[in-house]
Parts: sequence; C-alpha cells; structure tokens
Amino acid sequence: MDRLIHGIAADATVRVMAAITTDAVREAVRRHQTSPTVSAALGRVMTGTLLLGASLKEYDRLTVRIEAKGAVEGIVAETISGGRVRGYVKNPVAELPPKENGKFDVSGIVGEGMFYVTRESGFDLGLYREPYVGSVPIQTGEIAEDFAFYLAKSEQIPSAVLLGVLLQPEDPFVTCAGGVMIQMLPTSNENIAVMIEDTIRHAPQLTTAIKEGAMPEDLLKMTLGIIDYEILGETDVKFECNCSFDRAVQLISSLGKTEVASMLEQDKGAVMTCGFCNEVYQLDENDLRKMLETEKV
Ligand code: ZN
Repeated sequence: MDRLIHGIAADATVRVMAAITTDAVREAVRRHQTSPTVSAALGRVMTGTLLLGASLKEYDRLTVRIEAKGAVEGIVAETISGGRVRGYVKNPVAELPPKENGKFDVSGIVGEGMFYVTRESGFDLGLYREPYVGSVPIQTGEIAEDFAFYLAKSEQIPSAVLLGVLLQPEDPFVTCAGGVMIQMLPTSNENIAVMIEDTIRHAPQLTTAIKEGAMPEDLLKMTLGIIDYEILGETDVKFECNCSFDRAVQLISSLGKTEVASMLEQDKGAVMTCGFCNEVYQLDENDLRKMLETEKV
C-alpha cells in the first residue's frame, strides 16, 4: 500500500519524509507505456516530487519539471495535498543499454538540462498568487542528486535524498518504488549530519528493503539510525489526474466557434488526450453540435 509520511527528527532540527510509491509509479508506467529506463526516471521524479510536497496544504500544488537535452527530452511530475501525484515524460520510449554496474542509465537519457520547481497556492480557487519558481542546472541526471542539489542551491537546505525504482521483466513490471528525504534546518547540528551520512552509507539498498516489505517508517529508521523522530502527518499516495470529460469539452469550446464547426463538418467529432495521464476523451457529433447550439463557444 502506497503511503507518504513526514515529520521531524533530532529535536526538530531536521525535517524527514519517506514514501512507498509502488502503485502510483506502476499506474504512470501503465498509462504512458514507458521504456524501462524512462520508467525508472519517471518513478524517481514522481517519488521525489511527493517527498518535496509531503506537507502541502489543501489548494497547494508543487510541480517538478526537468528540461532535458537527453533522449527523454522532458519529465514532469505534479503533486497536490492528499498524496495525489501525476506525471509524464516527453519521450516515453527513450532507451539506452544499462550501465556497467547493471543499473538503468537514467543520467544517460536525461543528459544536461534544467531542473525547475514551482510552488503554487489557491490556483484552483481562482486566487492568483505569484507562484514560487526555483531552478538549477541538472547535476548528475540521476534525479535524487538533482533534488538534493536543488534544495541546497535554491532553498539553502542541505539534504539527503534517496529515490529508488526496482523493475523486472515480468508483470507487474514495477516491482517496487519509494524514497526518503532528510532536510537539515538551519538550527541543525553538524554531528547529526555526519551521523545521518554514516547511517545511509551502511544502510541496505533502498529498493531491496522496500521489496522485502519495508514501510515508510522503516525507510526513516534506515536513514536516521538511532536519531529520534516524530511523525507529524501521513497520507495514502495515488496516481490521480484532474482531467475529465467536462474539462475536455471546456478546452475544445475555448478553441472558438469556427474551429468547433470545422471539427463537426470535417472530422465528425474530436479527440482529446490528456498529456498528464494519457486518458483519451472522444467527443462525437452530438457533443460538438450541443456546444455550438448552447453557444458555449
Ligand atoms: Zn489526465
């Protein structure tokens, strides 16, 4: 069961978050039919985005966008409160042979590029507040290091980020996925950072632990060792998109009367595919006629 937790550790001088994201990543991979290496990349970005947005309030939205010069071209993940996440890539079939250590060459398909984080609030209520946008150049393209570099450079938060997606040739293709994020607050002690680094160095591999049934709390323990922590919030995680047939109708209406009339005459309908979740919405002649009659366009 996918779940996201967040809390504090070491007398509230460290922020911690951990998640199991297996089902959400599986759903993204199923919807976008991604190649193995792209699945690993998208799963890592979705998991990192969930961790970064672990304490989002209702009406908050956090988006991570990677503009890549490598074959994947772009990766986007967006999360809102309640552990809801969605994501897509520009080129789902980008692929490279595995690296010498047998791992997916995620950095190879990402290449150079930019890493953007956008934090918005109240957008769906019609409240417009200037969004906060931070950006850094891609460091390694292995994703976890890029999240850590972003936090350090753009938000001045030293952090440790572990993201893992384990894939196998059989079905289900995504065996497991999850991650941990540790953020050092300005009040934190250097010794704590050293202890955490040391614990992480000696911890078992993240995906091995998840495969063996580790819960988000276990991932925190693997990272924090003997350091005390307290959970402040938890939520289920799911792949969820806010697109709908009504939104598809609205979007097509917005193209204008002439365009809708031409779709009706020439194409006898319209097809809309949601970029975020790959859901296809088919509007038939009646739907388009209704649009023109009700002067919704
Ligand atoms: Zn959608």
